Amino acid sequence: MKKKPIVSIIGRPNVGKSTLFNRLARKRIAIVEDTPGVTRDRNYYDIQWENRPFTIVDTGGFESEVATDSLESSMVEQTKVAIEEADVVVFLLDGITGVAPDDQVIMDLLRRTEKPVFVVANKLDTPRHEDMTANLYELGVDKIFAVSASHGRGIGELLDELTQDFPLLEEYGDVDEEEVPIRLAIIGRPNVGKSSLINTLCGENRAVASPVPGTTRDTLHTAIRHNGRDFILLDTAGIRRKSRAFEHSIERYSVFRSIAAIEEAHVVLLLVDAQEPIADQDLKVASYAWEAGKPVIIGVNKWDIVDKDDRTYLQYQKNIQSRFKVSSKPCILFLSALTGQRTHKIYDLAEKFYRKTRLRIPTTEINELIQKAAIKHPPPSHTGGKRVKFFYATQISRHPFIVVIFCNYPESVHFSYKRYLTNVVTEAYSLHNVPVILKFRKKK
Ligand code: GDP
Ligand code: GDP
Repeated sequence: MKKKPIVSIIGRPNVGKSTLFNRLARKRIAIVEDTPGVTRDRNYYDIQWENRPFTIVDTGGFESEVATDSLESSMVEQTKVAIEEADVVVFLLDGITGVAPDDQVIMDLLRRTEKPVFVVANKLDTPRHEDMTANLYELGVDKIFAVSASHGRGIGELLDELTQDFPLLEEYGDVDEEEVPIRLAIIGRPNVGKSSLINTLCGENRAVASPVPGTTRDTLHTAIRHNGRDFILLDTAGIRRKSRAFEHSIERYSVFRSIAAIEEAHVVLLLVDAQEPIADQDLKVASYAWEAGKPVIIGVNKWDIVDKDDRTYLQYQKNIQSRFKVSSKPCILFLSALTGQRTHKIYDLAEKFYRKTRLRIPTTEINELIQKAAIKHPPPSHTGGKRVKFFYATQISRHPFIVVIFCNYPESVHFSYKRYLTNVVTEAYSLHNVPVILKFRKKK
């Protein structure tokens, strides 16, 4: 499939890169609190502006923990990687404090690239701040955009220009489903058995398992063929062995890496250790995956060493079900990476869920379904007793599976009603275990 353009946001610390990233990505999960000086991994996010899709990368803070020598060399290293990875670069400056020596260092790096660079002055929160860009032209660039990442000023203009040459969504075309390898992310906390599982999965297919270059630096990709179907395992386990420096922050780091893998994946396998209760962190990561539209398989690993009778799995199932709230009936697989028990089922499940998310429902059909559901259970009324009306519904995306419903008062469609409609769609098309995302948009 045609690759979406990658936009990297670079700049020295504190100019507002994360703020801009969040503004563009609109949503972010607060799994780990931001503490100055701690490692922040890269975040990736697929977004669209005026029907032009692209991927943004937030290089995060500079990882002083990995810096072998100075902070500056780490910044240069990070910036080089970000430029290399990008199709278009956004160079962010602090419009209030002006050009700093580090900005010049970055500018020197940018002069060596052919890639389009957008120089953006941030923190210009009001129109009267705009004049301040004048001082920034000492960098020797032709155009500087004035924005306020925290207030949203100037962002639309920036995106208009940034994306004007990007392909339209339609241009990506439909790819033959059989030809696309299914990307399966294997995530979970340290020591749950991710590496062991990957070895087992590769072992069964050793002849055809091969490393492939990934799109993120923190995920190892392994191509595997199983029953005539191609898979790519997105592995977040191996990297830590290479960087001892992270030993003390492994937990935290694994969350970030999991998120990068989830973003890339079609289907997510969350591995947990059968000997321990499912952790809050696992639940958060699983919810994140679900909300991002990725089907989640919960793999209860090390099943071989659990003391069990014929009802043990039911207890596990009940416990996980009561805590994994996003899906009413999560898919749970009891397995052992060590003995290989049920590991082959992972492929079947991944393929099944992948196929379900590829479903395309004609607009007339989904429309009718929603209208009927609204007649059966009318939505609660808007303030002042006005009726909430659904004008029409249409599926805008297949992976993830997203349906947009145009209505007069989207803000009045509450969580419980949204859940009702979600269930209607899920039941109608047997989309159990596949996240169905409904979005309500305003239309008069
Ligand atoms: P990063 O280190 O480049 O990722 O910078 P952050 O996004 O963490 O922002 C650094 C600081 O600048 C934070 O305190 C932000 O709240 C602040 N900041 C970011 N964008 C703006 C903006 O548009 N206006 C103002 N006034 N402050 C901003
Ligand atoms: P990772 O950190 O998630 O990659 O975990 P590893 O694959 O390194 O496994 C952590 C430990 O659990 C190792 O000592 C493995 O041998 C052990 N382990 C992994 N899977 C299983 C399993 O299915 N059964 C048993 N008994 N031990 C396992």
